[in-house]
Amino acid sequence: MNYQSTRDKSTRLSAAQAIAQGLARDGGLFVPASIPTLPKGAIAKLCAMDYRGRAEYVMSFYLDGFSGSELKAFCTSAYSDNFDDPAIAPVHSTDGITHYLELWHGPTCAFKDMALQMLPHLLTASLEKTGDKREVCMLVATSGDTGKAALEGFRDVQRTKIFVFYPKDGVSDVQQLQMTTQAGENVGVCAVRGNFDDAQTGVKKIFSDTALRKELNARGYFLSSANSINWGRLLPQVVYYISAYCDLVNNGTIRSGDEIDFCVPTGNFGDILAGWYAKRMGLPVKKLICASNKNDVLTEFIRTGVYNKNRQFYTTVSPSMDILVSSNLERLLFELSGKDDKLVASYMDDLFSKGCYTVTDEIRAAVADEFACGCCSEEETESSIAAIMKEHGYLIDTHTAVAAAVLKKYRAETGDMTPAVVVSTASPYKFSNAVLSALGQRTDLDGFEQISRLSELTGTKAPAPLASLRGRPVRFDGAVDKEDMLRTVDDFLS
Ligand SMILES: *Cc1c(COP(=O)(O)O)cnc(C)c1O
Repeated sequence: MNYQSTRDKSTRLSAAQAIAQGLARDGGLFVPASIPTLPKGAIAKLCAMDYRGRAEYVMSFYLDGFSGSELKAFCTSAYSDNFDDPAIAPVHSTDGITHYLELWHGPTCAFKDMALQMLPHLLTASLEKTGDKREVCMLVATSGDTGKAALEGFRDVQRTKIFVFYPKDGVSDVQQLQMTTQAGENVGVCAVRGNFDDAQTGVKKIFSDTALRKELNARGYFLSSANSINWGRLLPQVVYYISAYCDLVNNGTIRSGDEIDFCVPTGNFGDILAGWYAKRMGLPVKKLICASNKNDVLTEFIRTGVYNKNRQFYTTVSPSMDILVSSNLERLLFELSGKDDKLVASYMDDLFSKGCYTVTDEIRAAVADEFACGCCSEEETESSIAAIMKEHGYLIDTHTAVAAAVLKKYRAETGDMTPAVVVSTASPYKFSNAVLSALGQRTDLDGFEQISRLSELTGTKAPAPLASLRGRPVRFDGAVDKEDMLRTVDDFLS
């Protein structure tokens, strides 16, 4: 399987090259030159496997140049007792047609673990294969979940280092503690005085600093990003869509061949795009429902074909979906335009220069054929948490609640009662404050009190990685101005 760039389809790279490089030189994203289809009988075969086997089987279609035993070793190590559920990505049903795919049983309690427990294996193997002798330093600006998941994924992985910047006043108490107490010999964490945008802009500047790049190269380092633009982060996510389908077949909820919907809380469009790849591989999916919070840029795009980031940015209780530019949409546009790389490049130019682009009627229709969409207010997010707790005794987080609320509206509007899987992306304990508020509780508690209170109130158990934060020594209490971020990275790597 070769990989090509969304802005120049004549580019041809191996899987290892695409993963090692991350982003194409022309600024485009790497996509597989063709999308493999599941052979006849594959679903039956997959139904009989555990999550590790499913991951190995699905990923093998995309990773020419990686041996079966290599992939088996990666899957065994990425998905084992670092997850607190042996199913890794279990499905919880609240009624006969509504199912929650729980992707937060990993070490950081959010779905980014599904990919970031795998990416270090894929990346280090790719560097071996491409003969790159340098060490890689992952550089991350995070609004909360990605930074911690990347730290856990890369900690003490040989030939790698990782440095994370987070906005000083932009993450929850629990998220901050998760990062400042991070273990590992090759990790660094630092707060930036400013908001997420400041941190992200600072990181982009570091990436484009040629003097630093030269200097680091001389020291035997290069910088890479753990964002979902890397194919090695997207691919592991294709697996859980197929796995959820198999689980529903296995427990008799659906018959093999039946169509289902997926409703996905969306930010950067990485998660839902992985679902689209699963659909293209032949998984019987009817609609992929793209759920947004108050930041509804994707809802407008799917309805009108206009992507316009010139709009108010809202800070919401589902912060991991607070985003104006959904990078992975570029991959979908490439595929649905019939691989029209020039057209995609012109859209991305327009986005950069004007903050807006309008796709052709053909592309708009192709998007609408496979995707439905919806957005919801903060009140709807909260009342969705309360209603599902009341009706089903099932506790969900704020991001999952956005998807649950959008699914409910979608069903009411369309009458489509296809069995649907809501992709559940974070443990409710990670956003205890907002979840407590949704349940009508006090919110003036500190991070640990919130966790205890939520546990008492709902009779559920806090995930061990969060409960054990209490009493952990803080290792990284530094904070810098955004002007000093580059020097901080330089020091870290000297
Ligand atoms: C990152 C994240 C999302 C959004 O996923 P995308 O791939 O960016 O669309 C949703 N929920 C949670 C909890 C997240 O951490």
